[in-house]
Amino acid sequence: MTDSSKPRFNPTEEQRRDIVARYQAGESICELARSFGVQDDTIRRFLTRQNVPLRSVSEAVRLKRSINDGLTNQQRRTARAIADRRCRSCRTAPVAPRRRLCESCLAASRNRSAQRRAAGLCHGCGEPSTAPTCPSCRAGMKSWRQELRDAVLDAYGRSCACCGETLVDTLCIDHINGGGSKERRAGLTGYTFYRWLKANGFPPGFETLCGACNLAKRNKSECPHQAQIRQMLEHIAKIPLTY
Ligand SMILES: [Zn+2]
Ligand SMILES: [Zn+2]
Ligand SMILES: [Zn+2]
Ligand SMILES: [Zn+2]
Repeated sequence: MTDSSKPRFNPTEEQRRDIVARYQAGESICELARSFGVQDDTIRRFLTRQNVPLRSVSEAVRLKRSINDGLTNQQRRTARAIADRRCRSCRTAPVAPRRRLCESCLAASRNRSAQRRAAGLCHGCGEPSTAPTCPSCRAGMKSWRQELRDAVLDAYGRSCACCGETLVDTLCIDHINGGGSKERRAGLTGYTFYRWLKANGFPPGFETLCGACNLAKRNKSECPHQAQIRQMLEHIAKIPLTY
């Protein structure tokens, strides 16, 4: 749009108000320029002449991100709190490693659950329920667990690293160099462990094993399959090459 024969940008009173209002509502200079068929600088000069304070680049980036990520303000504040290792409920108090709530919010949450349970309500949503957890909360938890386990298996593989078993229900995540029992004592089991793996970007040092290989490895530090494979390879190596 460098055509010098283009008429000078001369917005009507209504357009002037429109440009200012839209900029202040979050539309970018670039978007406004496109919609009026003029160059970015034309809009920038116009806004300056109107004494509209311009956003800095970092403000513009932040604004754009907040518009684009589709989160509500509340979700955004929670996400920021989690990133800063603050409690996701009160969003102010710091949290202990691997905890999502601060001590006082955790106590309040446990207390509320206990009260709901005693009153015959679902401890998750507080709706009347015959079971401690209502069917809808149970379904929500089930799909959350499913998604988490899927993400973990996608990261570490969907077959046993020892025997190749692919039956998903038999698979678990093993600490390659041991140390799993120390973690289990620290409370890193089951879905807490999966959540930890995900939160840490699926770190190296873990592998997928089937339950049988995992158990065998835990008892003997190595699954008997591995000795078997070595024997087989030794045997193959002794076969004379006749071609
Ligand atoms: Zn808190
Ligand atoms: Zn519920
Ligand atoms: Zn296996
Ligand atoms: Zn094995």
